[in-house]
Amino acid sequence: MSNGVVTNGVSSHAQTPSQRYLSTRGGDSGLSFEEVVLKGLASDGGLYIPEAIPEATQWQSWKDLSFVDLAFNVLSLYISPSEIPAEDLKDLIRRSYATFRAEDITPLVHLQDSIHLLELFHGPTFAFKDVALQFLGNLFEYFLVRRNEGKTGRDRYHLTVVGATSGDTGSAAIYGLRGKKDVSVFMLHPKGRVSPIQELQMTTVLDPNVHNLAVTGNFDNCQDIVKALFADPDINSTLKLGAVNSINWARILAQTVYYFYSYFSLARQQPESFKIGDKVRFSVPSGNFGDILAGYFAHRMGLPVDKFVIATNENDILDRFWKTGKYEKKPTYGPSAEGGLAADGVKAHEDGVKETLSPAMDILVSSNFERLLWFLAYEFASSAGMDDEWNKKQAGQEVSAWLSDLKTKGGFGPVYQDVLEAARRTFESERVSDQETLDTIQSLYKEVGYVLDPHTAVGVEAARRSVRRVVESGMPMVPHISLSTAHPAKFAGAVTLALKDEEGFEFNSKVLPPEFVGLDQKEKRVKDVPNEWQAVRDLVKAEVEEELKGAR
Ligand SMILES: *Cc1c(COP(=O)(O)O)cnc(C)c1O
Repeated sequence: MSNGVVTNGVSSHAQTPSQRYLSTRGGDSGLSFEEVVLKGLASDGGLYIPEAIPEATQWQSWKDLSFVDLAFNVLSLYISPSEIPAEDLKDLIRRSYATFRAEDITPLVHLQDSIHLLELFHGPTFAFKDVALQFLGNLFEYFLVRRNEGKTGRDRYHLTVVGATSGDTGSAAIYGLRGKKDVSVFMLHPKGRVSPIQELQMTTVLDPNVHNLAVTGNFDNCQDIVKALFADPDINSTLKLGAVNSINWARILAQTVYYFYSYFSLARQQPESFKIGDKVRFSVPSGNFGDILAGYFAHRMGLPVDKFVIATNENDILDRFWKTGKYEKKPTYGPSAEGGLAADGVKAHEDGVKETLSPAMDILVSSNFERLLWFLAYEFASSAGMDDEWNKKQAGQEVSAWLSDLKTKGGFGPVYQDVLEAARRTFESERVSDQETLDTIQSLYKEVGYVLDPHTAVGVEAARRSVRRVVESGMPMVPHISLSTAHPAKFAGAVTLALKDEEGFEFNSKVLPPEFVGLDQKEKRVKDVPNEWQAVRDLVKAEVEEELKGAR
């Protein structure tokens, strides 16, 4: 305890040797936390994971900690004090969550029967992505300011974050990075194709380091432009580009905290029926698999979890993997991406992504799934009884082979039965259609008066099915914590569609938070750009140049 980091008897730092990171594809290892946060993606195309998942040996003693103190204990197990001194880390965490409107940051509310709702939308942009991006923004600034100590002008390390957004990521990233020193942020959104609230949330941020670009095109066009920029030698010779998408390890790490916190909230709220050590189920509306993966880490650290329920919308690559062991862009069974289209009137992109009522989960492949695959492959390799180095090497090779098949053949699998069984021990999956999403919003409003956003509704429907399965199995009931990932006012279209005929329902009085009122009257800053990556490149370079001059 020589470093003096003691919180409720837990000296996290004293237990932790320096934590190092490796790539899921085996080509990179021994990296520091700072390196993986600033790099984002590994050079071999893989994602960074800790070389070992730390065990939180005294997690039970964290029960009564505030969110901030709990976050400090969890994060300390992954970030060595030699990298970020304890006092600095604590201050970073405190500032990151001071922007939240709810006193306990991520409150747990009882929804119905054994289902509880973990409200993750009390941050600045009313979506769960704030939990990670408020922290990531401060982390970027911390590392950059430290690298720039004593440097002036052009010698300073300046990061230019470029990203494409269909709504949620963009606004949360902008609010995470606004006003931060030595960082510029450029967010590309498809002009006129993000929800009005999301567009206003982005464009009414006037900080000089925030640049909104409205692209004449769709979301895929925006993504293609961003990819072209990252691959362009010209812009990379003048600017240091950075990414904030959910493959960034710091985002996953920040999200592990609320799994612990909600578990303790439940224990506090139900002291008679729920004891520390009892198991829970989590139901998680999933897209890129980042949110639920954070839960997996919490579980591996020691949190007692019976099952994680993966809740997907009609973009169901994850659900299909759990049912078949095959991970494929195009389904080979059931309602195909093309099949139901005409009948449902659902639009599809060329590549088979469906536009659904829960757009933040409209993905073709889930990038963070690669991280789980590594742990499954590692577990499988370990059963052969070789040494740890060999197991890690095997896992990296296996993941590389799978991901290469995904790229060249559009899919891989079925995976070994042992791997699939390991996946099924910890996870179950559910696919929820748009109609079922609307029905769930409607029934929860009717039954308990709670208005769910469409993403949250996907999770709640999956939780209800899980409850039914537990009942049918004859096992004792397990409390379910269903993650609420967005405030319903962000998705007015779907909510209104579900509730328009309900007696006494009125969007403005029932759903709209005061923060959204009058947003459309505020000053906006956004530039229209054509769907041409060179034009975007020239604009980005010019605007960063102007910012560095301090001209604005
Ligand atoms: C991003 C997002 C999700 C999906 O989270 P993943 O980490 O990508 O699985 C779900 N709901 C909302 C509202 C989101 O913004």
